[in-house]
Amino acid sequence: MNIHEYQGKAVLKEFGLPVSRGKAIFSADEAEAAAQELGGPLWVVKSQIHAGGRGKGKFKEAAAGEKGGVRLAKSIDEVKEFARQMLGNTLVTVQTGEAGKQVNRLYIEDGSDIDTELYLSMLVDRATGQVAFVVSTEGGMDIEQVAHDTPEKILTFSVDPATGVMPHHGRTVAKALGLKGALAKEAEDLVTKLYTAFIAKDMEMLEINPLIITKDQHLKCLDAKISFDGNALYRHPEIQELRDITEEDEKEIEASKYDLAYIALDGTIGCMVNGAGLAMATLDIIKLYGEEPANFLDVGGGASEEKVTAAFKIITADPNVKGILVNIFGGIMKCDVIARGVIAAVKAVGLQVPLVVRLEGTNVEEGKQIIRDSGLNVIPADDLDDAAQKIVNAVRGGK
Ligand code: GDP
Ligand code: MG
Repeated sequence: MNIHEYQGKAVLKEFGLPVSRGKAIFSADEAEAAAQELGGPLWVVKSQIHAGGRGKGKFKEAAAGEKGGVRLAKSIDEVKEFARQMLGNTLVTVQTGEAGKQVNRLYIEDGSDIDTELYLSMLVDRATGQVAFVVSTEGGMDIEQVAHDTPEKILTFSVDPATGVMPHHGRTVAKALGLKGALAKEAEDLVTKLYTAFIAKDMEMLEINPLIITKDQHLKCLDAKISFDGNALYRHPEIQELRDITEEDEKEIEASKYDLAYIALDGTIGCMVNGAGLAMATLDIIKLYGEEPANFLDVGGGASEEKVTAAFKIITADPNVKGILVNIFGGIMKCDVIARGVIAAVKAVGLQVPLVVRLEGTNVEEGKQIIRDSGLNVIPADDLDDAAQKIVNAVRGGK
């Protein structure tokens, strides 16, 4: 689960990390009071969307001006003007895709005088099964570009969970960032606190870009991008409260209501599968035959007819879907339940695209019979390979 920058900074502050003072606002009317409270003389007006690259982003609407989604303001009037321009308009950045994201919240921050911009992030490194730090002197810019052009400028190391974070980790970061004396000490303190926050809140990723050295020689987290492990959210009701569903994919929100493991993808073939492994194999085989899946969906083991119906409706509601592949290997899941769920959904929302169904396992004959009796225009398939070829042919307009 992702949160906004201002929420992330509040979490960091709880752990004693250095961040600027700031106020989140939801309407332009609140801009003046927020700016006055912060005092100035420099303010930063920051669009809050779940995507990076805001500073270099562009608004779609002319009314939003030309200056990007993060702007420095030198007067309260300027803060008000930027707030009016940005709120309600659509910001497009390298991470939002062409559609962009509507800005509904702003963060007004006390402006910092920057001496140097550095990079620091942390993530769960699946290769080592440990929390890794990634640091670089090349902060503020596109880290992917740095990794591509000058990988030697990035240092990565991981922390053994048996020992937790140690003073030498902090020294390693300080050295990699070229920090000495009091700043090196601040870096050591920062690393310890970041690691503590990361573990305590079950974070998945934490990116501070830029981590700055201020003109008066202190470290500060100037940006914060945090995502949390969805499977650990039950332990953190205070984090769950930060969820902003307006930032999430509508189909994924609907799926989460039914406790379906659904991930929206970019392709044209909608998939309904039981079991995560089989779902992944289904995506692979669709790609093998040259098409792209529109989603990952694992309806789970003991799914009810209602859940299957909901899943099918979510798939058909996606305008990119040009064909649907139902691939069920009935173990705990029964083929007749799937068949009934699919038919109920088609009755409710209709079926505009070809549908290939491959059923195997528990109650398979009953399931097939239900589909035959329904009179639905279903293309039956014998096995996964056959099913994949049939749906790929069908979306390409073949028979
Ligand atoms: P991003 O573009 O979404 O990554 O947003 P950031 O929060 O990283 O801001 C983009 C850039 O704006 C930073 O790299 C800084 O150069 C600049 N910026 C942000 N806050 C301040 C500030 O307080 N003072 C100054 N001088 N520049 C800032
Ligand atoms: Mg940034």
